[in-house]
Amino acid sequence: MIKKKANYDVIFPGEHLAFIEEFESGKNTFVVDGSIRSLSFGKKEYDFKKRQVVIERIKQAHFPKIGDVIVGYIEMLFGSMISIRILYLNNKKFSSGLSAIASTRIASGSGGWNSRRDRGERRPKLVYRVGDIVRGRIFSLMNSSAHATINDKDFGVVYCICYICGGDTVKLNNTIKCIECGMMEEKKLAVDFGKEVLLSLATRGE
Ligand SMILES: [Zn+2]
Repeated sequence: MIKKKANYDVIFPGEHLAFIEEFESGKNTFVVDGSIRSLSFGKKEYDFKKRQVVIERIKQAHFPKIGDVIVGYIEMLFGSMISIRILYLNNKKFSSGLSAIASTRIASGSGGWNSRRDRGERRPKLVYRVGDIVRGRIFSLMNSSAHATINDKDFGVVYCICYICGGDTVKLNNTIKCIECGMMEEKKLAVDFGKEVLLSLATRGE
């Protein structure tokens, strides 16, 4: 069976749908200060006959919860934030087309970066690129977005190819190195960085 990807924007609980001047509050919605909002994860639908906006619920199991571990690729970079398109949720294939936002600022003492470096030594410039595969943990579902953290030794970039030549890369301490052209770049890497992470997800992620 071929699973169809969600081709609509997923609505989050609490998300604004319409104003009460425009529509009435329908199924799975509520009103706050004249704003109609969603009660659950779902798909927004308008009933123009009844002038109602309703939410068709989607099974909650298909959405990340706080504490869930995600693996996905960086689809966008904006300032010190990255948007991660989720490919695996708790090591299972995930095809709801949802993304999570994560900060690339590494909190000291998080275990995410060598704390020795925070004490006056050179602070590395960490570089992230679209396509890098990242693992993180969901810590908030506020403001209609899934927020993930990469501040843990298990989190960060788990694999990437060389941005110059597309070659395979290996981990050397906190640096990745292209085995083809020698390109080196510092990123916040997960301890188990390597292609094996993806291979293992692909084989048991069904
Ligand atoms: Zn290369």
